[in-house]
Amino acid sequence: MEIVTTIEAYREAVAKWRGAGNKIGFVPTMGALHEGHLALIDEARRLSRRVVVSIFVNPLQFAPGEDYERYPRDLPADTALAESREVALLFAPDESEMYPQAPRVTVRAGPTGEEWEGQVRPGHFDGVLTIVAKLFNIVQPDVAVFGQKDLQQAMLVSSMVRNLNFPLQVVIAPTVRDPDGLALSSRNRYLSSEDRATALALPRALEAIYDKYEDGERDVSALESVGRSVLTAGPRVLIDYLAVVERESFRRRDELRAPGAAIGAVRVGGTRLIDNVLLG
Ligand code: AMP
Repeated sequence: MEIVTTIEAYREAVAKWRGAGNKIGFVPTMGALHEGHLALIDEARRLSRRVVVSIFVNPLQFAPGEDYERYPRDLPADTALAESREVALLFAPDESEMYPQAPRVTVRAGPTGEEWEGQVRPGHFDGVLTIVAKLFNIVQPDVAVFGQKDLQQAMLVSSMVRNLNFPLQVVIAPTVRDPDGLALSSRNRYLSSEDRATALALPRALEAIYDKYEDGERDVSALESVGRSVLTAGPRVLIDYLAVVERESFRRRDELRAPGAAIGAVRVGGTRLIDNVLLG
């Protein structure tokens, strides 16, 4: 596995693969890799000849007061994990390489980027789409794999690729969970064992909505209230949002008639968790 930290070195490394006609698969991450990331790498390997993983904690997508400074960083462990999954190249630039100056031209996520995650984290998706656009232009992948875990992000990236004609395919891979149902996340390492048990309320609430949907319920308020009662039954979690939306538009309607998703974000102790399940 090659490890490169500059854009110039990346371009040199990749020129020879491109010349040989190899398809490039790309998995962008912020590091602190876990089995969720590794599943995306496996999917990228199935779809391409050479897998590139980027590790960059993107300051642009963190609001002041969020966990940018204390976001977990562990390049040696990440390198070993990436190598174990046959990653061809790890791109790990530092901040000055990606943002030599504060960017004056950025990508705007539009109205969908201002709802749900975007409402709680203003500017977050503009920051995400700006770094993803930069990485796409640097890495030049044929296929990029994103996790369903961050569904709104994955839908916005897909829509950026369509709207701005990036010449690549976006693939969304299923959420990887611990056996008890908690979605894997780099932030789970912040949770005490007590908080971790409390955090299980989120996947259980989403599961309850899923079951009610499978029973035939299509009234969105009724679906949401089933989930909300699970969230409020146990020890206290702070609910940022719990909602049932249409999957493509992330719009909430009174009745769910198109493919949907139950989406939720909660805070447990000082840790923020997000999750979702697909409906239909
Ligand atoms: P992050 O490093 O948290 O920004 O995530 C990088 C990529 O991994 C994103 O596409 C996430 O959606 C994806 N990801 C994170 N957690 C999981 C998980 N538990 N299952 C599947 N994909 C995940």
